[in-house]
Formats: sequence, C-alpha cells, structure tokens
Amino acid sequence: MNKALRKAVIAGNWKMNKTPAEAKELLEGILPLVKDAGCDVIACVPFVDLQTALEVTRGTNVKIGAENCHWEKSGAYTGEISAEMLTAMGVEYVIIGHSERRTYFGETDVTVQKRVRAALDAGLTVILCVGEYLEQREQGITDELVAMQTKIALGGVSKEELSRVIIAYEPVWAIGTGRTATAQQANEVCAVIRATLAGLYGKDAADATTVQYGGSMNAGNAAELLAQPDVDGGLIGGASLKPADFAKIVSAATEG
Ligand code: PEP
Repeated sequence: MNKALRKAVIAGNWKMNKTPAEAKELLEGILPLVKDAGCDVIACVPFVDLQTALEVTRGTNVKIGAENCHWEKSGAYTGEISAEMLTAMGVEYVIIGHSERRTYFGETDVTVQKRVRAALDAGLTVILCVGEYLEQREQGITDELVAMQTKIALGGVSKEELSRVIIAYEPVWAIGTGRTATAQQANEVCAVIRATLAGLYGKDAADATTVQYGGSMNAGNAAELLAQPDVDGGLIGGASLKPADFAKIVSAATEG
C-alpha cells in the first residue's frame, strides 16, 4: 500500500455546536493557523452555519461540508435537507452515516447507501463513516462488520465515483469518549477497509482512496495515528472546535 498516492484529509465535525456568529468566529480563528496546510482541510458544520462558513472561507484552503443529507431531491420530508440544496449553496462535502446518526436517529446501512447515492449524484464528495460498537469489538467481529458496512454503503457506486468518497473509520467506543483506538488498532481496521475496497474496485482504486481515522483524535495523539501507513487523515469532533488543537492535527497530517 502506498500512502504517497493519496492526500491526507483532516475534516472537522462540529456536530450540533455553534450559531452562525460563533461559526464565523471559530473559522476566523482556524483559517490563519491552517493556511499553509499540506493536507486538505474541511469543516463540516450544522446546516444553519453553512452560508456563513462558505462566506468566511471563500478564497481560502478550507472547504465546507454538511453533516448529513436526505436521499430524495425534494418533497414531503419535513426537517430534511437534500444533497441538491447543499450543492446549490456551494457546499462540496457531506458526512454520511455518522455513528450518532446511526445510534440516535435510526440510520441503517440501507439509508446510508441511499444517502451516499444521492450525495454523489448531486456532485458532493462523501465522508462515509463506518465503525463498530465496543461489544462488537469484544465479540471479534470488527473486521467483518466494517467490511459489511463499507460494502453496503458503496452498493452501486462506480469506480469513477469512488474518487469522491472518503471513508472514516470511527470506532463508536472512541467517539467523544476520550478513549482513542491505539495507532495499531486504527491502522488495522483502516487496512481492512482498504482491502475491502480492493476487492470491490481493484488495488489501484483502493490505494488512491483516503481512509481516515476518527475517535477522540487530538493534538496530543494525532501524530502517532496519522503516521500509520493506512491512516490518511482524521475526522475530528471535539478538537475541531479548538483552533490551536485543530491546527496541530492539520500539521501532524501534513507531516504524516
Ligand atoms: C466525530 O464526531 O466524528 C468524532 C470523531 O468525535 P470526537 O473527535 O469528539 O471523538
């Protein structure tokens, strides 16, 4: 596997944090610190912050993403946002299948697949989240489970479209808990995801796909995680709300 074939991607997931005014302030704190990044930098923000975030980051190296999208283009889906609505605004990325969506909002592998399809059709780049619960890790089924989540989510996705998919391995037990997977655990599962991609699309496509780790990555542990051969970046929750910490992770990915 050749890490040099793919660019590292650090994406912040702000979750349900920050009003538009607070989003502006946070981005204005982050932008000067990451302006020389040698990796791609993305901020995935709440829907209500997208317009502000796009305006504040215009002409900079920070790209903006949403945290979810619906699979239909329009219709009677009260409270939902379509992928077309996002691209019409100028949004380029969307997180799909985050474990908080799966755990609290009934997201299934099938709805994840539908959202991935819709996002790609609309022209977005997808950050697809997969990962196991602690009980599943203890049962020894992490590899099979993550491979299955990946395969279902990518059902119908062509090799060409895979170039607009980033996969984030996020062990659920490590998200927002302060408990991080060891660098070895993170690398092992990222490698399983890459092998799954190789089975579906061939080795070249798998080698060209960015596979991130997410789960309590922070300024202190990022360098070790990002130095792993199959870890190509990070999806960052809590630390993405702290400019100095987020910038340290971006620097670690640049050195990667
Ligand atoms: C996440 O929300 O995807 C995440 C990894 O959160 P945290 O970094 O806070 O664990």
